[in-house]
Amino acid sequence: MAQLYFYYSAMNAGKSTSLLQSSYNYNERGMRTLIFTAAIDTRFAKGKVTSRIGLSADALLFSDDMNIRDAILAENNKEPIHCVLIDECQFLTKAHVEQLCEITDSYDIPVLTYGLRTDFRGELFTGSAYLLAWADKLVELKTVCYCGRKANKVLRLAANGKVLSDGAQVEIGGNEKYVSVCRKHYTEATLKGRIEQL
Ligand SMILES: [Zn+2]
Repeated sequence: MAQLYFYYSAMNAGKSTSLLQSSYNYNERGMRTLIFTAAIDTRFAKGKVTSRIGLSADALLFSDDMNIRDAILAENNKEPIHCVLIDECQFLTKAHVEQLCEITDSYDIPVLTYGLRTDFRGELFTGSAYLLAWADKLVELKTVCYCGRKANKVLRLAANGKVLSDGAQVEIGGNEKYVSVCRKHYTEATLKGRIEQL
């Protein structure tokens, strides 16, 4: 039976690299994959998943009002799909996650989703909340804080390096940057309004 996977992490843990590697492994065995990324993320190029180490692949875009099950089935009717891979899955809606469960259960197509667990305030993203609740397999991709401990929180920093503790959950492509840190250093930086070290 196919399964729904949620690969989650803080920022810069290599999620896109891992997604592209998985897709490559399927393709190498002559199997077809379908890759999606959020329409919201236009940092690199629309309709591409790009990893920081230079790999990239074409992707379809998902947006809030789209039925992702129908989009997958339309492609599957053209030519069978062996695996669906979704980048930036924190931006999925509850309905999207329900549709992906149906793709896994009723159509027996494995779905691998990759994304952030929480935002810079430490709150769950909607997509991540339902994936944590419903995915068959939860896999943490690890990255480290500057102190060497596992990083499980994300700080949003202004261009001047000041820690931002409010604002919209989604601000991609602004001047802000995001740094992954451990819980201890997240709390410390949030209290002080700045980060000790990068
Ligand atoms: Zn730390």
